[in-house]
Amino acid sequence: MGFAGSRLDRDGENRTEATLAEALADDRAGLYLMADGRWLTQPSLDGEGRPSLAFGPAAVTAHFDTTQAVLLGRRTDGSPRLAARAVTMPDEASGFVAEGLRGLAMSGALDTETEGELGQAEHLLNWHARSAFCGRCGAATLSDAAGYRRRCPSCGDVQFPRTDPVSIMLIHDGNGRTILGRSPRFPERMWSCLAGFIEPGETLEAAVRRETLEEAGVTVGRVDYFASQPWPFPGSLMIGCVGLATSTDIVFDAAELEACRWFDRDEVAAMIEERHPDGLTAPKTFAIAHHLVRAFVEMTD
Ligand SMILES: [Zn+2]
Repeated sequence: MGFAGSRLDRDGENRTEATLAEALADDRAGLYLMADGRWLTQPSLDGEGRPSLAFGPAAVTAHFDTTQAVLLGRRTDGSPRLAARAVTMPDEASGFVAEGLRGLAMSGALDTETEGELGQAEHLLNWHARSAFCGRCGAATLSDAAGYRRRCPSCGDVQFPRTDPVSIMLIHDGNGRTILGRSPRFPERMWSCLAGFIEPGETLEAAVRRETLEEAGVTVGRVDYFASQPWPFPGSLMIGCVGLATSTDIVFDAAELEACRWFDRDEVAAMIEERHPDGLTAPKTFAIAHHLVRAFVEMTD
C-alpha cells in the first residue's frame, strides 16, 4: 500500500530548532527538495536503477532556507531525513529533474521507505505553504519545532500540522455482494469503494453511514475498522472500514458518481485479477481501496 512504508524514528519529543540544525549539519543527512510542488530527483541512480531524491544538505544549501526546512526523523541507521521547499532552482545543466509525488509513487520508481518519507514531507510542506499567515490576527507566522508547528510572533497563537480524515468503505450485504461506484474522475472502466471526508463532530462510523446513504442511498449497520493510509494530496488520512448494509436498493448521487451498483464476489475477483470479460478493473495495490476490495473477495461472509 502506498505511503505506508516509512520506518523513520520521528522522535517527536525532541523537535527543536537545535535538533533541526544538528540534523542539517549531519554528513549522513538526506534532504528532499520540493520545487513548484514537485520533487527534485538526481540523475544518479541507486543500485536498483531508482532515481535518488535525498540530497546532502550542504550540496543544495544555496537552494533552500534552512529556517524553513522540516525534520522528518531518523532512519534505522541514524541518518536524518529532512525536506525543504526550493527558493531557487538548481540550473538545468545540473541535470535535476522535478517530478510529482503521485507520478513517482504510481510508477513504482520509489522504494517503500522513500515513498513513505516523501508522503510525510509533501503533507508537511503543503501545510506550511497554506499556513503562512495567522488565522487569528493575520500576521505572518514562523516555522517552529523543526517544522512541526507554526507560531505567530504577533499574538502568540500556535498552529499544528492538520490532517484531514477521509472515510473509505467497503460496504457489503453479508451475502456475497459489495457496492462499488464510478466517479467521472476515475480511469475508464475502473470502479472503487465509496469515500468521503469525515465532518467536524462526526464519528468515523457515522461518516461511513452518512456517506453511504448520501452516495448510494443504502443504509449501513455494523461498521468495522480495517486499516488506514496516509494520503498527502494535500494532507489526508484515508481510514478504511467495512460496513454491513441494512438495505439493498441503490439510489446513487449523480452529482458525485456516474454509476454505482452491487457486484458479486466472483465479478470483483475477476476485476482485481484483471480478467473481467468487460475489462472492468479495481484500484491497484497502491490504494487502500484495493486492499478493501481484496478483503471482500477473501471474506467468507
Ligand atoms: Zn496571530
